[in-house]
Amino acid sequence: MYNSIICRYHEIATKGNNRNMFERRLVENIQYLLRDVAPCRVRRVRGRVWVEHRDGIEFTSAELDAIRPQLAKAFGLESFSPAVRIAPPDQEEIRKAAVRTAADVIAPKLNGRDQLTFRVRARRSNKKYPLRSTEIEIDLVTRIAALFPPGSLKIDLDHAEITLGCEVRDEFAALFWERFDAPGGLPVGSNPRVLTLLSGGIDSPVAAYLAMKRGCPTDFITFHSAPYTPPETVDKVRGIAKLLNSFQQPGKLYCCNLAPLQKLIRDNCQERFRTVLYRRAMMRIAEQVARKNNCRALVTGEAVGQVASQTLVNLDTINHAVDILILRPLVGADKHDAIAIAEKIGSYPLSCVQVPDSCTVFAPSSPSTATPRALAEAEECRIPEYPAQIEKIIEDIVTYA
Ligand code: ATP
Ligand code: MG
Repeated sequence: MYNSIICRYHEIATKGNNRNMFERRLVENIQYLLRDVAPCRVRRVRGRVWVEHRDGIEFTSAELDAIRPQLAKAFGLESFSPAVRIAPPDQEEIRKAAVRTAADVIAPKLNGRDQLTFRVRARRSNKKYPLRSTEIEIDLVTRIAALFPPGSLKIDLDHAEITLGCEVRDEFAALFWERFDAPGGLPVGSNPRVLTLLSGGIDSPVAAYLAMKRGCPTDFITFHSAPYTPPETVDKVRGIAKLLNSFQQPGKLYCCNLAPLQKLIRDNCQERFRTVLYRRAMMRIAEQVARKNNCRALVTGEAVGQVASQTLVNLDTINHAVDILILRPLVGADKHDAIAIAEKIGSYPLSCVQVPDSCTVFAPSSPSTATPRALAEAEECRIPEYPAQIEKIIEDIVTYA
């Protein structure tokens, strides 16, 4: 019964001069997300994005089932509602559509119950429309209540179980019965590209998601330690990157083998500093890859105090290995905050698959929780081949498009 979908956004609406760019990006992203699910036309009409069937007909329920999860991935959107679009706006047509759809929506919910709470919420931006919002509401409530046994629909303006929405605009009106949540944030692509350091853990996929949510498309870089880690270590991260790429036009995944440098660190440096030295090496490699590929910042899943390498002193030492902006969207998050997001976006079960991690290769039995910068630098100076080895690892990167 629905021939269009109303898409609402919020933060973009506050963007002043840049609003146009944000809206255009949002429309493009929605077109992209819906490209394989239904033939759609997507356009902006003053403060809303409207998705319509390309042939002006109703969406099938299979098409709507496919559209819903895709719109739920559109950063920048706050919510959306499948709607009946009536053009031009006309009260008799609105009434007919309300009555026609009411039976389908209300009857199954009323089934076996004496009473349901109900309301109509009307908004009128068309100031020439002959009825005011309250008059539209009263008109539709009266018609719909008449379809059901007396007393079975109870008006409740605050906590109704069923709400019929009605928007009357200049060129058309729209009726909708349901509202679905979308992720909010900013459309991917409205901010510059970033490079996420993606491990097989829980946190870094969530960090990548949050960067995309702020409008940054992301590429990914992962470190393994073949032959000390198995091929499954990379396979797992490829699976996670694939999932994250369903939220954006796919970013690349760069796979680096850190093992040659880890061996040099093992053989030349004090054991308890290994983890921080690995992480500094990862940052250096990631920085060069980012600069070559137009990524303006690195993103990590680090949080203050979560593990030994994430004390403030160690974070500072890791940070200063490079001169590029590092975003840490989870810096203040608890583990269960990260898990809740991971579950919502579907990365949690992928992250829970146990495979060896690059960081645990030759891991120290008791890692230093405070490695001052100068000390890390002195340790690295014991490895004359360090810069050449970094170059070699970068040359050997395997890229998955
Ligand atoms: P995660 O759950 O994301 O693995 P974590 O809590 O296990 O994080 P660490 O292992 O210390 O923490 O890693 C902190 C961050 O460093 C990760 O979130 C990720 O951004 C980056 N990182 C760690 N290991 C790797 C790796 N093998 N490849 C790419 N990035 C990594
Ligand atoms: Mg990890």
